[in-house]
Amino acid sequence: MAPKDNHYPTAELQALDAAHHIHPFSDSAAMRARGARVITQADGVWLTDSEGNRILDGMAGLWCVNIGYGREELAEAAARQMRQLPFYNTFFMTTHPPAVALSAKLAEIAPGDLNRVFYAGSGSEANDTNIRLVRHYWHAMGKPEKRTIIARKNAYHGSTMGGASLGGMGAMHAQGGLPIPDIVHIDQPHWWAEGDDLSPEEFGRARARQLEEMIDRLGEGTVAAFIAEPIQGAGGVIIPPESYWPEISRICREREILLIADEVICGFGRTGHWFGSQHFGIDPDIMTIAKGLSSGYQPIGGSIIRESVAEVIEASGEFFHGYTYSSHPVAAAVALENIRILGEEGIIDRVREDTAPYMAQKWATLAEHPMVGEARMVGLMGALELTPDKAARAAFANEGTVGLMTRERCFANGLVMRHVGDKMIISPPLVITHEEIDRLIELAWQSLDEGMAQAKAEGAF
Ligand code: PMP
Repeated sequence: MAPKDNHYPTAELQALDAAHHIHPFSDSAAMRARGARVITQADGVWLTDSEGNRILDGMAGLWCVNIGYGREELAEAAARQMRQLPFYNTFFMTTHPPAVALSAKLAEIAPGDLNRVFYAGSGSEANDTNIRLVRHYWHAMGKPEKRTIIARKNAYHGSTMGGASLGGMGAMHAQGGLPIPDIVHIDQPHWWAEGDDLSPEEFGRARARQLEEMIDRLGEGTVAAFIAEPIQGAGGVIIPPESYWPEISRICREREILLIADEVICGFGRTGHWFGSQHFGIDPDIMTIAKGLSSGYQPIGGSIIRESVAEVIEASGEFFHGYTYSSHPVAAAVALENIRILGEEGIIDRVREDTAPYMAQKWATLAEHPMVGEARMVGLMGALELTPDKAARAAFANEGTVGLMTRERCFANGLVMRHVGDKMIISPPLVITHEEIDRLIELAWQSLDEGMAQAKAEGAF
């Protein structure tokens, strides 16, 4: 029997959950042994679980609740739109006011001539759109052999067949025979783990030049696009060296390929700009958006496309592509209200000028912890590299074990911080205050201490 409300005892919720709910990215056996964590409400940057514990959400949900929890205006925008027009599609030459208003707004805030939007229900779907779109584009340009998309190892672009293929997660590829054809991967610009004796700047240039080498190897006439996150998020907040993006941009300018910036995490203020591309001076042809677009209050994603690229698609007849929930009116109305608040309340400006510099300074102090080799951060996204030997930038023998221990200590102490292998990562709501940042740093330090103690006790350090 399904619960009628939120007031079932935790154990009962956990039992029903285990009986009927398959979780994304979860080890079911481990979860059942302990019972799923049940979150029941949230406000600002704070979650409340079914036992009444308050937890500081250092991950903004899944990097998405940029505006923070509990904004009535978004609930009202949804209710208003549901009453007026809860659903209509934009297929077959139809539109509706929320789709129009959101598209115009996105064209206004997106850089340069990124002026056309194709909507999806999520970031994964938007990246699937991008695969079809860039291939269709080159077909329409009379170059149908330009099909291959170059992506990066350890990138994350979604969980659909297309999104997971663009992504460079080996464990995901191993489940289900991915990648799909005509997607190839170059190495990531992760200096801490892979830079060896090169300086970060030399390493950044070398990694960027792999794009040029790959284009040469495949033949420029077969390559459609390069896709990358301005900062790799799910891969572990991998901030490329300063030299990386200028070199990638040069290559994309000189070669006849499209550049797709996956802004699903970096967009909507995460870096202190509307888009991560603006932080790095990237000039993409297409940007993938989702998450912070609605601050996660409604599922919505999309592709913002350069006018000249969109015009080719538009001039080539019907694009046989679309999702039932493309430009969903309720999601669009909520996204519009979210963007209004992010702008009018100066939330992104505050991140750039105040909260991010404050947090960066506090975050840097965590590098003094004996288990932390590097503490990096841009805007309000950051990572800690856990290591048994700072000077050697060494990895732990059993990768991910110490990270997992530390993450569990964070939860127990009332902080959501995620681990990717032995990297601890953070991406709090953009409305986090100085006091909350201080608290986050305290809880992180305490959890690092406890994680290290446990690692030593279990012989993992
Ligand atoms: N691209 C990036 C960069 C992401 O981080 C994610 C989600 N973490 C996606 C795409 C996929 O988005 P979604 O989960 O909404 O499908």
